[in-house]
Amino acid sequence: MFQGPFDHSIIRRAKSKGLAEIYLHNIRDYASNKHKSVDDYAFGGGSGMVMMVQPIADCINKLKSERTYDEIIYTSPDGELLNQKTVNHMSGYQNIILLCGHYKGIDERIREHIITKEISIGNYVLSGGELAAAIIADSLIRLIPGVLSDETSALSDSFQDDLISPPVYTRPADYNGWKVPDVLLSGNEKEITKWKIEKGYERTRERRPELLNEEE
Ligand code: SAH
Repeated sequence: MFQGPFDHSIIRRAKSKGLAEIYLHNIRDYASNKHKSVDDYAFGGGSGMVMMVQPIADCINKLKSERTYDEIIYTSPDGELLNQKTVNHMSGYQNIILLCGHYKGIDERIREHIITKEISIGNYVLSGGELAAAIIADSLIRLIPGVLSDETSALSDSFQDDLISPPVYTRPADYNGWKVPDVLLSGNEKEITKWKIEKGYERTRERRPELLNEEE
């Protein structure tokens, strides 16, 4: 599941430039029981299997014995909702673990004793944490200095400054009568900047008004 997201485009470039390293660990390799099982029935009944404590604890404890981690993150629909502020903060971290759940989730004791942060990518349920982990990784890695070729471009993305990006256009200036706003062709830097800021606010008010009310 990680081959696509981690082996192409920006993440691939970050890895090849030595700006990010990603290691995948298969929990099953740490299962001590003879069937190498990593899940079991839920105590108290109910549908769905639960990921067992032992393989996860052994895997994470081994990693922790090798280096220090800024956070040990569990991807979970009831975690803190991922937003750009958190992403900006976490992009400065040296090492993180992203634990991906499956089935009904992981045994609660891992969350109580090992996990330091829980992140949700949205109010909906995925079948596993991998896609959430790939999203978290992508959002962090693209902010590492040197990863994006035009470094300022990340700063002008939506949600930086709690604003949505203004609309963008490229050539041709007139596509069968669909025209680019005149101001963008005017060459007047001051007017262009003013237009971009105004449009950013307008879009934010229209589409995501809650961003303007969020506390810093
Ligand atoms: N029973 C759980 C859902 C389990 S889904 C519940 O109701 O909360 C299986 C796994 O997918 C989870 O353990 C988690 O790692 C991952 N996952 C599902 N939805 C997610 C989301 N919105 N954000 C982050 N991870 C998610």
